[in-house]
Amino acid sequence: MKRKIRLRNYIAFIYTLFVCIGIFILSITVNAFSGKLFSEYVKRTIEREINEIIRSFADQYQHSNGIFNMDGINAIGMHYLHRGYLISLEAPSGITLWDVHIMNMPQCNLIVEEITARMQNDHRLDGSFIKTQYTLEIETGQIGNVNIEVYAPFFYSLEDAHFIKSLNMLFLITGIIFAVLSVIISFYLAIVIAKPIVQTKNAARRISEGNFATRIENNFFLAELYELAGSVNDLAVNLENGEKWQKRLTSDMAHELRTPLTVLQGNIDAMIDGVWEPTPKRLQFCNDEIERLHKLIENLSILSLIERDNLNLHKTDFDLKKLLLQAAAQFIPLAQEKGITLTVNIAETPIHADYDRLMQVFVNLLSNAIKYTEQGNIILTLNESEAAHEIRITDTGIGIPENDLSHIFKRLYRSDVSRDRSSGGSGIGLSIVAAIVKAHGGNISVVSNEGQGSVFTVTLPKNSFLRFTALV
Ligand code: ADP
Repeated sequence: MKRKIRLRNYIAFIYTLFVCIGIFILSITVNAFSGKLFSEYVKRTIEREINEIIRSFADQYQHSNGIFNMDGINAIGMHYLHRGYLISLEAPSGITLWDVHIMNMPQCNLIVEEITARMQNDHRLDGSFIKTQYTLEIETGQIGNVNIEVYAPFFYSLEDAHFIKSLNMLFLITGIIFAVLSVIISFYLAIVIAKPIVQTKNAARRISEGNFATRIENNFFLAELYELAGSVNDLAVNLENGEKWQKRLTSDMAHELRTPLTVLQGNIDAMIDGVWEPTPKRLQFCNDEIERLHKLIENLSILSLIERDNLNLHKTDFDLKKLLLQAAAQFIPLAQEKGITLTVNIAETPIHADYDRLMQVFVNLLSNAIKYTEQGNIILTLNESEAAHEIRITDTGIGIPENDLSHIFKRLYRSDVSRDRSSGGSGIGLSIVAAIVKAHGGNISVVSNEGQGSVFTVTLPKNSFLRFTALV
Protein backbone atom coordinates (compact mmCIF):
# COMPACT_ATOMS: atom_id res chain seq x y z
CA MET A 1 0.00 0.00 0.00
CA LYS A 2 1.28 3.44 -0.94
CA ARG A 3 2.47 5.26 2.14
CA LYS A 4 -0.40 7.35 3.52
CA ILE A 5 -0.21 10.62 5.40
CA ARG A 6 -1.56 10.63 8.94
CA LEU A 7 -4.69 12.79 9.21
CA ARG A 8 -3.34 14.60 12.28
CA ASN A 9 -0.10 15.55 10.52
CA TYR A 10 -1.97 16.54 7.40
CA ILE A 11 -4.37 18.87 9.23
CA ALA A 12 -1.50 20.36 11.25
CA PHE A 13 0.59 20.88 8.11
CA ILE A 14 -2.21 22.46 6.07
CA TYR A 15 -3.29 24.73 8.91
CA THR A 16 0.26 25.88 9.70
CA LEU A 17 0.99 26.45 6.02
CA PHE A 18 -2.21 28.42 5.66
CA VAL A 19 -1.47 30.62 8.69
CA CYS A 20 2.17 31.17 7.65
CA ILE A 21 1.15 32.20 4.13
CA GLY A 22 -1.44 34.51 5.74
CA ILE A 23 1.16 36.08 8.03
CA PHE A 24 3.58 36.44 5.11
CA ILE A 25 1.04 38.17 2.85
CA LEU A 26 -0.20 40.33 5.71
CA SER A 27 3.30 41.43 6.73
CA ILE A 28 4.25 42.28 3.14
CA THR A 29 1.10 44.34 2.54
CA VAL A 30 1.20 46.02 5.95
CA ASN A 31 4.90 46.72 5.54
CA ALA A 32 4.49 48.20 2.06
CA PHE A 33 1.45 50.19 3.07
CA SER A 34 2.90 51.53 6.30
CA GLY A 35 6.25 52.25 4.53
CA LYS A 36 4.45 54.31 1.91
CA LEU A 37 2.33 56.14 4.49
CA PHE A 38 5.37 56.86 6.61
CA SER A 39 7.46 58.20 3.71
CA GLU A 40 4.54 60.51 2.78
CA TYR A 41 4.43 61.69 6.36
CA VAL A 42 8.20 62.30 6.39
CA LYS A 43 8.03 64.24 3.10
CA ARG A 44 5.31 66.46 4.56
CA THR A 45 7.40 66.98 7.72
CA ILE A 46 10.43 68.03 5.63
CA GLU A 47 8.28 70.52 3.67
CA ARG A 48 6.91 71.90 6.91
CA GLU A 49 10.38 72.27 8.39
CA ILE A 50 11.65 74.04 5.26
CA ASN A 51 8.74 76.49 5.53
CA GLU A 52 9.58 76.95 9.19
CA ILE A 53 13.23 77.67 8.34
CA ILE A 54 12.20 80.30 5.77
CA ARG A 55 9.74 81.87 8.18
CA SER A 56 12.28 81.89 11.06
CA PHE A 57 14.96 83.46 8.83
CA ALA A 58 12.53 86.17 7.69
CA ASP A 59 11.69 86.85 11.33
CA GLN A 60 15.36 87.68 11.94
CA TYR A 61 15.19 90.59 9.49
CA GLN A 62 15.30 93.91 11.32
CA HIS A 63 13.15 96.47 9.55
CA SER A 64 14.72 99.37 11.50
CA ASN A 65 18.17 98.95 10.03
CA GLY A 66 17.51 96.62 7.13
CA ILE A 67 19.92 93.90 8.30
CA PHE A 68 19.51 90.42 9.75
CA ASN A 69 20.03 89.51 13.38
CA MET A 70 23.05 87.30 12.78
CA ASP A 71 22.95 85.73 16.28
CA GLY A 72 19.41 84.53 15.60
CA ILE A 73 20.35 83.30 12.10
CA ASN A 74 23.30 81.42 13.56
CA ALA A 75 21.18 79.77 16.28
CA ILE A 76 18.50 78.71 13.80
CA GLY A 77 20.99 77.48 11.19
CA MET A 78 22.95 75.41 13.73
CA HIS A 79 19.74 73.96 15.16
CA TYR A 80 18.62 72.81 11.69
CA LEU A 81 22.09 71.53 10.84
CA HIS A 82 21.61 68.87 13.52
CA ARG A 83 18.27 67.99 11.95
CA GLY A 84 19.96 67.43 8.54
CA TYR A 85 19.42 70.82 6.85
CA LEU A 86 22.49 72.63 5.47
CA ILE A 87 21.51 76.29 5.18
CA SER A 88 23.09 79.44 3.82
CA LEU A 89 21.70 82.97 3.64
CA GLU A 90 22.38 85.42 0.84
CA ALA A 91 21.60 89.10 0.40
CA PRO A 92 19.41 89.89 -2.64
CA SER A 93 22.65 90.90 -4.40
CA GLY A 94 24.00 87.35 -4.00
CA ILE A 95 26.57 88.11 -1.29
CA THR A 96 26.72 85.33 1.32
CA LEU A 97 25.64 86.63 4.70
CA TRP A 98 25.77 83.36 6.60
CA ASP A 99 26.79 79.80 5.59
CA VAL A 100 26.70 76.73 7.78
CA HIS A 101 29.65 75.27 5.83
CA ILE A 102 31.76 78.21 6.82
CA MET A 103 30.50 78.11 10.39
CA ASN A 104 31.20 74.41 10.98
CA MET A 105 32.55 72.51 8.01
CA PRO A 106 33.55 69.29 9.88
CA GLN A 107 30.12 69.01 11.45
CA CYS A 108 28.49 69.55 8.03
CA ASN A 109 30.56 66.77 6.48
CA LEU A 110 29.75 64.47 9.38
CA ILE A 111 26.02 65.09 9.03
CA VAL A 112 26.10 64.56 5.25
CA GLU A 113 28.00 61.28 5.65
CA GLU A 114 25.80 60.06 8.46
CA ILE A 115 22.48 60.78 6.65
CA THR A 116 23.74 59.38 3.32
CA ALA A 117 24.88 56.17 5.04
CA ARG A 118 21.60 55.85 6.98
CA MET A 119 19.44 56.30 3.90
CA GLN A 120 21.50 54.26 1.44
CA ASN A 121 22.55 51.39 3.67
CA ASP A 122 19.76 51.05 6.23
CA HIS A 123 16.77 52.10 4.14
CA ARG A 124 17.99 51.28 0.61
CA LEU A 125 16.96 54.72 -0.64
CA ASP A 126 19.36 56.00 -3.26
CA GLY A 127 19.58 59.78 -3.24
CA SER A 128 21.89 62.70 -2.56
CA PHE A 129 22.00 66.11 -0.96
CA ILE A 130 20.34 68.65 -3.25
CA LYS A 131 20.38 72.37 -2.75
CA THR A 132 17.25 74.46 -3.36
CA GLN A 133 17.01 78.20 -3.22
CA TYR A 134 14.05 80.00 -1.61
CA THR A 135 13.39 83.72 -1.80
CA LEU A 136 12.92 85.63 1.46
CA GLU A 137 10.28 88.32 0.98
CA ILE A 138 8.43 90.77 3.15
CA GLU A 139 5.75 93.34 2.21
CA THR A 140 8.34 95.82 1.01
CA GLY A 141 10.08 93.33 -1.27
CA GLN A 142 12.87 90.72 -1.37
CA ILE A 143 15.16 90.71 1.62
CA GLY A 144 17.39 87.80 0.61
CA ASN A 145 17.64 84.12 -0.45
CA VAL A 146 17.88 81.01 1.67
CA ASN A 147 19.69 77.98 0.23
CA ILE A 148 18.63 74.73 1.89
CA GLU A 149 20.50 71.53 1.11
CA VAL A 150 18.74 68.29 2.14
CA TYR A 151 18.93 64.62 1.23
CA ALA A 152 16.39 64.11 -1.59
CA PRO A 153 13.84 62.70 -2.31
CA PHE A 154 13.46 62.49 1.50
CA PHE A 155 15.36 61.33 4.53
CA TYR A 156 14.66 59.88 7.93
CA SER A 157 15.78 61.65 11.05
CA LEU A 158 17.33 59.61 13.85
CA GLU A 159 13.94 59.45 15.61
CA ASP A 160 12.25 58.37 12.38
CA ALA A 161 14.84 55.64 11.84
CA HIS A 162 14.37 54.49 15.41
CA PHE A 163 10.60 54.44 14.96
CA ILE A 164 10.89 52.36 11.77
CA LYS A 165 13.24 49.94 13.48
CA SER A 166 10.84 49.55 16.43
CA LEU A 167 7.91 49.06 14.06
CA ASN A 168 9.76 46.37 12.11
CA MET A 169 10.72 44.65 15.33
CA LEU A 170 7.08 44.75 16.43
CA PHE A 171 6.00 43.15 13.15
CA LEU A 172 8.65 40.47 13.51
CA ILE A 173 7.72 39.64 17.11
CA THR A 174 3.99 39.60 16.28
CA GLY A 175 4.68 37.37 13.29
CA ILE A 176 6.72 34.95 15.38
CA ILE A 177 4.04 34.88 18.13
CA PHE A 178 1.36 34.21 15.50
CA ALA A 179 3.40 31.50 13.84
CA VAL A 180 4.04 29.75 17.17
CA LEU A 181 0.38 30.12 18.18
CA SER A 182 -0.77 28.80 14.82
CA VAL A 183 1.43 25.73 15.18
CA ILE A 184 0.01 25.10 18.68
CA ILE A 185 -3.59 25.65 17.53
CA SER A 186 -3.10 23.54 14.43
CA PHE A 187 -1.82 20.65 16.55
CA TYR A 188 -4.70 21.08 18.98
CA LEU A 189 -7.21 21.15 16.11
CA ALA A 190 -5.56 18.20 14.45
CA ILE A 191 -5.78 16.21 17.68
CA VAL A 192 -9.42 17.22 18.30
CA ILE A 193 -10.44 16.12 14.81
CA ALA A 194 -8.11 13.20 14.33
CA LYS A 195 -8.55 11.57 17.77
CA PRO A 196 -12.22 10.59 17.31
CA ILE A 197 -11.49 9.40 13.78
CA VAL A 198 -8.58 7.29 15.01
CA GLN A 199 -10.76 5.88 17.82
CA THR A 200 -13.52 5.10 15.33
CA LYS A 201 -11.04 3.53 12.92
CA ASN A 202 -9.58 1.34 15.69
CA ALA A 203 -13.05 0.29 16.80
CA ALA A 204 -14.05 -0.54 13.21
CA ARG A 205 -10.91 -2.66 12.86
CA ARG A 206 -11.67 -4.55 16.10
CA ILE A 207 -15.25 -5.11 14.89
CA SER A 208 -13.96 -6.36 11.53
CA GLU A 209 -11.78 -8.82 13.45
CA GLY A 210 -14.89 -10.24 15.05
CA ASN A 211 -14.92 -8.38 18.38
CA PHE A 212 -18.55 -7.35 18.07
CA ALA A 213 -18.76 -6.25 21.71
CA THR A 214 -16.52 -3.28 20.82
CA ARG A 215 -18.13 0.13 21.41
CA ILE A 216 -16.83 3.65 20.91
CA GLU A 217 -17.24 5.99 23.86
CA ASN A 218 -19.19 8.49 21.82
CA ASN A 219 -18.81 11.86 23.50
CA PHE A 220 -17.53 13.62 20.39
CA PHE A 221 -18.79 17.16 20.00
CA LEU A 222 -18.42 17.43 16.22
CA ALA A 223 -21.77 16.37 14.72
CA GLU A 224 -20.38 14.34 11.79
CA LEU A 225 -17.92 12.47 13.98
CA TYR A 226 -20.64 11.84 16.57
CA GLU A 227 -22.88 10.38 13.85
CA LEU A 228 -20.03 8.33 12.40
CA ALA A 229 -19.20 6.80 15.78
CA GLY A 230 -22.94 6.22 16.40
CA SER A 231 -23.22 4.35 13.09
CA VAL A 232 -20.19 2.19 13.90
CA ASN A 233 -21.69 1.40 17.32
CA ASP A 234 -25.02 0.50 15.68
CA LEU A 235 -23.15 -1.71 13.24
CA ALA A 236 -21.43 -3.48 16.14
CA VAL A 237 -24.78 -3.98 17.92
CA ASN A 238 -26.33 -5.44 14.77
CA LEU A 239 -23.39 -7.73 14.16
CA GLU A 240 -23.43 -8.83 17.80
CA ASN A 241 -27.16 -9.56 17.63
CA GLY A 242 -26.65 -11.32 14.30
CA GLU A 243 -23.97 -13.51 15.82
CA LYS A 244 -26.18 -14.37 18.82
CA TRP A 245 -29.05 -15.04 16.49
CA GLN A 246 -26.96 -17.28 14.28
CA LYS A 247 -25.84 -19.33 17.29
CA ARG A 248 -29.42 -19.62 18.48
CA LEU A 249 -30.56 -20.57 14.98
CA THR A 250 -28.08 -23.47 14.78
CA SER A 251 -29.10 -24.85 18.18
CA ASP A 252 -32.81 -24.33 17.41
CA MET A 253 -32.43 -26.13 14.09
CA ALA A 254 -30.68 -29.06 15.77
CA HIS A 255 -33.43 -29.16 18.39
CA GLU A 256 -36.25 -29.02 15.84
CA LEU A 257 -34.77 -31.87 13.84
CA ARG A 258 -33.55 -34.00 16.73
CA THR A 259 -36.83 -34.22 18.63
CA PRO A 260 -39.00 -35.88 15.95
CA LEU A 261 -36.08 -38.04 14.77
CA THR A 262 -35.43 -39.34 18.30
CA VAL A 263 -39.11 -40.12 18.76
CA LEU A 264 -39.24 -41.88 15.39
CA GLN A 265 -36.06 -43.84 16.01
CA GLY A 266 -37.26 -44.93 19.48
CA ASN A 267 -40.57 -46.19 18.09
CA ILE A 268 -39.11 -47.96 15.05
CA ASP A 269 -36.27 -49.56 17.11
CA ALA A 270 -38.86 -50.90 19.53
CA MET A 271 -40.90 -52.33 16.65
CA ILE A 272 -37.81 -53.89 14.96
CA ASP A 273 -36.71 -55.46 18.27
CA GLY A 274 -40.21 -56.85 18.61
CA VAL A 275 -40.81 -54.92 21.86
CA TRP A 276 -43.79 -53.18 20.27
CA GLU A 277 -46.26 -54.51 17.79
CA PRO A 278 -46.37 -52.31 14.64
CA THR A 279 -50.01 -51.47 15.22
CA PRO A 280 -51.75 -49.02 12.85
CA LYS A 281 -51.97 -46.55 15.76
CA ARG A 282 -48.18 -46.68 16.30
CA LEU A 283 -47.49 -46.48 12.59
CA GLN A 284 -49.85 -43.48 12.39
CA PHE A 285 -47.92 -41.82 15.21
CA CYS A 286 -44.65 -42.35 13.31
CA ASN A 287 -46.29 -40.99 10.19
CA ASP A 288 -47.38 -37.86 12.09
CA GLU A 289 -43.80 -37.24 13.19
CA ILE A 290 -42.58 -37.71 9.60
CA GLU A 291 -45.32 -35.28 8.50
CA ARG A 292 -44.10 -32.75 11.06
CA LEU A 293 -40.57 -33.07 9.76
CA HIS A 294 -41.83 -32.76 6.24
CA LYS A 295 -43.78 -29.65 7.12
CA LEU A 296 -40.77 -28.13 8.81
CA ILE A 297 -38.61 -28.74 5.75
CA GLU A 298 -41.36 -27.49 3.43
CA ASN A 299 -41.71 -24.30 5.47
CA LEU A 300 -37.96 -23.86 5.44
CA SER A 301 -37.88 -24.20 1.67
CA ILE A 302 -40.76 -21.70 1.28
CA LEU A 303 -38.81 -19.34 3.47
CA SER A 304 -35.59 -19.81 1.56
CA LEU A 305 -37.51 -19.19 -1.65
CA ILE A 306 -38.82 -15.91 -0.27
CA GLU A 307 -35.40 -15.00 1.07
CA ARG A 308 -33.88 -15.54 -2.35
CA ASP A 309 -36.33 -12.91 -3.61
CA ASN A 310 -38.05 -15.50 -5.73
CA LEU A 311 -41.49 -15.03 -4.33
CA ASN A 312 -43.53 -14.35 -7.41
CA LEU A 313 -46.84 -12.91 -6.34
CA HIS A 314 -49.82 -13.77 -8.50
CA LYS A 315 -52.02 -10.81 -7.77
CA THR A 316 -55.71 -10.80 -8.53
CA ASP A 317 -58.67 -8.70 -7.46
CA PHE A 318 -60.78 -10.31 -4.72
CA ASP A 319 -62.75 -9.58 -1.58
CA LEU A 320 -60.59 -9.52 1.52
CA LYS A 321 -63.59 -10.39 3.70
CA LYS A 322 -64.07 -13.62 1.72
CA LEU A 323 -60.44 -14.60 2.26
CA LEU A 324 -60.51 -13.87 5.99
CA LEU A 325 -63.78 -15.77 6.46
CA GLN A 326 -62.32 -18.73 4.60
CA ALA A 327 -59.16 -18.64 6.73
CA ALA A 328 -61.20 -18.39 9.93
CA ALA A 329 -63.52 -21.21 8.86
CA GLN A 330 -60.63 -23.69 9.03
CA PHE A 331 -60.22 -22.94 12.73
CA ILE A 332 -63.84 -22.96 13.87
CA PRO A 333 -63.82 -26.64 14.91
CA LEU A 334 -60.55 -26.19 16.83
CA ALA A 335 -61.82 -23.01 18.46
CA GLN A 336 -65.03 -24.72 19.49
CA GLU A 337 -63.03 -27.66 20.85
CA LYS A 338 -61.00 -25.26 23.05
CA GLY A 339 -64.05 -23.17 23.96
CA ILE A 340 -62.69 -20.06 22.29
CA THR A 341 -64.92 -17.57 20.50
CA LEU A 342 -63.68 -16.71 17.03
CA THR A 343 -65.21 -13.50 15.68
CA VAL A 344 -64.70 -12.05 12.21
CA ASN A 345 -65.78 -8.43 12.15
CA ILE A 346 -65.10 -7.32 8.63
CA ALA A 347 -66.92 -5.55 5.81
CA GLU A 348 -66.53 -6.41 2.17
CA THR A 349 -63.24 -4.99 0.90
CA PRO A 350 -61.84 -5.30 -2.60
CA ILE A 351 -58.12 -5.90 -2.68
CA HIS A 352 -55.47 -6.57 -5.30
CA ALA A 353 -53.09 -9.18 -3.88
CA ASP A 354 -51.86 -12.79 -4.07
CA TYR A 355 -54.83 -14.77 -2.71
CA ASP A 356 -52.97 -17.98 -1.78
CA ARG A 357 -50.06 -16.16 -0.12
CA LEU A 358 -52.38 -13.91 1.89
CA MET A 359 -54.35 -16.99 2.89
CA GLN A 360 -51.08 -18.45 4.19
CA VAL A 361 -50.49 -15.24 6.22
CA PHE A 362 -53.86 -15.32 7.97
CA VAL A 363 -53.88 -19.08 8.44
CA ASN A 364 -50.52 -18.84 10.18
CA LEU A 365 -51.64 -15.91 12.33
CA LEU A 366 -54.96 -17.55 13.26
CA SER A 367 -53.24 -20.87 13.90
CA ASN A 368 -50.90 -19.13 16.36
CA ALA A 369 -53.76 -17.26 17.98
CA ILE A 370 -55.63 -20.53 18.62
CA LYS A 371 -52.46 -22.41 19.56
CA TYR A 372 -51.41 -19.87 22.18
CA THR A 373 -54.87 -19.14 23.59
CA GLU A 374 -56.44 -21.31 26.24
CA GLN A 375 -59.64 -19.39 26.79
CA GLY A 376 -61.34 -16.19 25.81
CA ASN A 377 -61.71 -15.00 22.28
CA ILE A 378 -60.01 -14.21 19.03
CA ILE A 379 -61.26 -11.26 17.01
CA LEU A 380 -60.44 -10.38 13.42
CA THR A 381 -61.07 -6.74 12.48
CA LEU A 382 -60.33 -4.55 9.50
CA ASN A 383 -59.55 -0.84 9.49
CA GLU A 384 -59.51 1.11 6.27
CA SER A 385 -57.45 4.19 5.70
CA GLU A 386 -56.90 6.08 2.47
CA ALA A 387 -53.59 4.39 1.90
CA ALA A 388 -53.89 0.94 3.45
CA HIS A 389 -55.94 -2.00 4.72
CA GLU A 390 -55.16 -2.73 8.35
CA ILE A 391 -56.12 -6.22 9.54
CA ARG A 392 -55.95 -6.92 13.25
CA ILE A 393 -55.93 -10.34 14.94
CA THR A 394 -56.53 -9.95 18.64
CA ASP A 395 -56.32 -12.85 21.07
CA THR A 396 -56.56 -13.31 24.81
CA GLY A 397 -53.79 -15.90 24.90
CA ILE A 398 -50.53 -16.37 26.77
CA GLY A 399 -48.94 -13.26 25.26
CA ILE A 400 -45.33 -12.79 24.31
CA PRO A 401 -42.55 -11.80 26.73
CA GLU A 402 -41.23 -8.31 25.99
CA ASN A 403 -37.71 -9.62 25.30
CA ASP A 404 -39.02 -11.91 22.57
CA LEU A 405 -41.18 -9.34 20.79
CA SER A 406 -38.44 -8.08 18.47
CA HIS A 407 -37.35 -11.61 17.56
CA ILE A 408 -40.52 -13.54 16.85
CA PHE A 409 -40.47 -12.76 13.14
CA LYS A 410 -37.04 -14.41 12.80
CA ARG A 411 -36.57 -17.93 11.53
CA LEU A 412 -37.03 -20.72 14.09
CA TYR A 413 -37.50 -18.24 16.91
CA ARG A 414 -39.86 -19.40 19.59
CA SER A 415 -40.38 -17.73 22.89
CA ASP A 416 -39.35 -19.82 25.84
CA VAL A 417 -42.92 -19.70 27.12
CA SER A 418 -44.29 -21.39 23.99
CA ARG A 419 -41.35 -23.81 23.86
CA ASP A 420 -42.02 -24.90 27.46
CA ARG A 421 -45.59 -25.56 26.58
CA SER A 422 -44.50 -27.82 23.71
CA SER A 423 -47.09 -26.24 21.50
CA GLY A 424 -45.80 -28.16 18.54
CA GLY A 425 -44.67 -25.10 16.57
CA SER A 426 -41.38 -24.76 14.80
CA GLY A 427 -40.83 -20.99 14.81
CA ILE A 428 -41.12 -20.52 11.06
CA GLY A 429 -44.73 -19.45 10.64
CA LEU A 430 -44.22 -15.80 11.51
CA SER A 431 -41.08 -15.54 9.35
CA ILE A 432 -43.18 -16.63 6.37
CA VAL A 433 -45.96 -14.22 7.35
CA ALA A 434 -43.51 -11.31 7.57
CA ALA A 435 -41.89 -12.19 4.26
CA ILE A 436 -45.20 -12.39 2.38
CA VAL A 437 -46.49 -9.17 3.91
CA LYS A 438 -43.26 -7.40 2.99
CA ALA A 439 -43.43 -8.80 -0.53
CA HIS A 440 -46.83 -7.07 -0.79
CA GLY A 441 -45.17 -3.84 0.29
CA GLY A 442 -46.91 -4.10 3.66
CA ASN A 443 -45.91 -4.29 7.25
CA ILE A 444 -46.60 -6.47 10.27
CA SER A 445 -46.37 -5.47 13.90
CA VAL A 446 -47.29 -6.92 17.24
CA VAL A 447 -48.34 -5.59 20.60
CA SER A 448 -48.48 -8.09 23.41
CA ASN A 449 -48.73 -8.39 27.15
CA GLU A 450 -47.53 -11.57 28.73
CA GLY A 451 -50.46 -13.47 30.23
CA GLN A 452 -53.04 -11.13 28.67
CA GLY A 453 -52.89 -11.64 24.94
CA SER A 454 -51.50 -10.31 21.69
CA VAL A 455 -52.57 -8.11 18.81
CA PHE A 456 -50.98 -8.75 15.42
CA THR A 457 -51.55 -5.97 12.87
CA VAL A 458 -51.04 -6.56 9.16
CA THR A 459 -50.96 -3.40 7.04
CA LEU A 460 -51.33 -3.83 3.30
CA PRO A 461 -50.95 -0.77 1.12
CA LYS A 462 -53.66 -0.02 -1.41
CA ASN A 463 -52.38 -0.09 -5.02
CA SER A 464 -49.23 -1.74 -3.75
CA PHE A 465 -46.61 -2.54 -6.30
CA LEU A 466 -45.04 -5.93 -6.44
CA ARG A 467 -42.02 -5.83 -4.26
CA PHE A 468 -39.51 -8.47 -3.25
CA THR A 469 -38.08 -8.03 0.17
CA ALA A 470 -35.59 -10.35 1.75
CA LEU A 471 -36.07 -11.24 5.37
CA VAL A 472 -33.75 -9.59 7.78
P1 ADP B 1 -44.45 -21.40 15.98
O1 ADP B 1 -44.55 -22.45 14.97
O2 ADP B 1 -43.54 -21.70 17.11
O3 ADP B 1 -45.74 -20.85 16.41
P2 ADP B 1 -44.13 -18.86 14.72
O4 ADP B 1 -43.04 -18.30 13.87
O5 ADP B 1 -45.49 -18.87 14.16
O6 ADP B 1 -43.67 -20.26 15.20
O7 ADP B 1 -44.15 -18.00 16.04
C1 ADP B 1 -42.95 -17.73 16.70
C2 ADP B 1 -43.16 -17.57 18.18
O8 ADP B 1 -43.94 -16.41 18.42
C3 ADP B 1 -43.95 -18.67 18.78
O9 ADP B 1 -43.12 -19.75 19.14
C4 ADP B 1 -44.53 -18.00 20.00
O10 ADP B 1 -43.58 -18.00 21.03
C5 ADP B 1 -44.77 -16.61 19.56
N1 ADP B 1 -46.17 -16.35 19.13
C6 ADP B 1 -46.62 -16.22 17.85
N2 ADP B 1 -47.94 -15.91 17.84
C7 ADP B 1 -48.34 -15.86 19.14
C8 ADP B 1 -49.56 -15.56 19.81
N3 ADP B 1 -50.68 -15.29 19.14
N4 ADP B 1 -49.58 -15.58 21.16
C9 ADP B 1 -48.46 -15.83 21.84
N5 ADP B 1 -47.26 -16.12 21.29
C10 ADP B 1 -47.18 -16.12 19.96
